[in-house]
Amino acid sequence: MALQENISLRPYNTFGVDARARYFFSVTTPQRLMPAVEEAPGGSPLFVLGGGSNVLFTRDFEGLVLKNDIIGQVVIEDGPDMVRVRAGGGEDWHAFVKWCLQHRFYGLENLSLIPGTVGAAPVQNIGAYGVEVGERIEAVEAIDLESGESCCFPAGACDFAYRSSMFKHRCRNRFFITAVTFRLDRTARLVTSYADVRQALADRPAAAVTPQELSETICAIRRRKLPDPKEVANAGSFFKNPIVTRARYRELADRFPGLPAYPVDDQQVKIAAGWMIDHCGWKGRRVGACGVYPRQALVLVNYGGATGGDILALAEAVQASVAKVFDIRLEPEPLIL
Ligand SMILES: Cc1cc2nc3c(=O)[nH]c(=O)nc-3n(C[C@H](O)[C@H](O)[C@H](O)COP(=O)(O)OP(=O)(O)OC[C@H]3O[C@@H](n4cnc5c(N)ncnc54)[C@H](O)[C@@H]3O)c2cc1C
Repeated sequence: MALQENISLRPYNTFGVDARARYFFSVTTPQRLMPAVEEAPGGSPLFVLGGGSNVLFTRDFEGLVLKNDIIGQVVIEDGPDMVRVRAGGGEDWHAFVKWCLQHRFYGLENLSLIPGTVGAAPVQNIGAYGVEVGERIEAVEAIDLESGESCCFPAGACDFAYRSSMFKHRCRNRFFITAVTFRLDRTARLVTSYADVRQALADRPAAAVTPQELSETICAIRRRKLPDPKEVANAGSFFKNPIVTRARYRELADRFPGLPAYPVDDQQVKIAAGWMIDHCGWKGRRVGACGVYPRQALVLVNYGGATGGDILALAEAVQASVAKVFDIRLEPEPLIL
């Protein structure tokens, strides 16, 4: 089963940080997982890695990194209105979205071009342009790293919420997600309500827009706004948009006219962390080898050679400014290790 030793994680994280893993193993089938865990010295911490696009390594990992390389997708039910598709946790997320579109399975268009793997999608309930993946997940299959048992969680048991699930919080590091089953539509019900999308499609009659066109529109918006990790290392939005009560938002909006907010429910709104960071003067600022991306203040970038510690120090400086001005503590979105 031979674990690899002292492996650089640089090619395995989109921040391009050069941390090392004491042990490393590529998991290509669920059956190979537990024997690899048992081969590591007793008590070794475990870390499940997908595409490394939502993680910041601030030090070497003195345990076993289990890289999810379980691939494959299969239609398990094909009805007149809906289809159930099961995909391996190591599948590339965007390639899977494209495969669904090619087969006319609809519902994931708005999540086009998000980096990472299928197995990580439920972990933070990936979301973009008005859609969250939890709405389309039927079940998550995983192996319990403590007992070695296989489990299957229906979506209702996963605690999906904004950039959150039980896999990210309550059961962090406990499960290795091997496969995800999605429930998709045969007839598209496109979500085009998000301002950027509406604007980009303004000259098209709503009924004429195809799912393929919506996906391409979203890819174009994302390419314009977000840095491609292959060109400038980053992990997407570094901070979550804070959720506050409507009363608190009114108070803030009185002091900071123009502060954008998006409704969450009757009681709460999500406020734009990027706007607050920009207001504090951070947008486009560079500190050594890292900085705040000039076109999107939510994104921290590594221009080359920054350590995880450098990026974390920048994130903390941004958090301190926002806390001072707005009295709000920004919560990081990536996992910091
Ligand atoms: C340019 C850019 C844009 C982005 N845009 C968005 C966006 O619009 N919306 C959004 O939600 N996110 C976005 N992200 C963040 C990221 O792409 C997603 O969170 C993605 O799902 C992470 O996938 P990954 O495979 O790279 O996970 P990793 O970074 O490898 O892991 C992330 C977390 O999930 C855990 N994990 C990974 N795989 C498994 C598994 N199989 N079983 C159990 N736990 C696992 C890890 O332990 C870790 O805690 C963006 C990132 C970048 C770089």
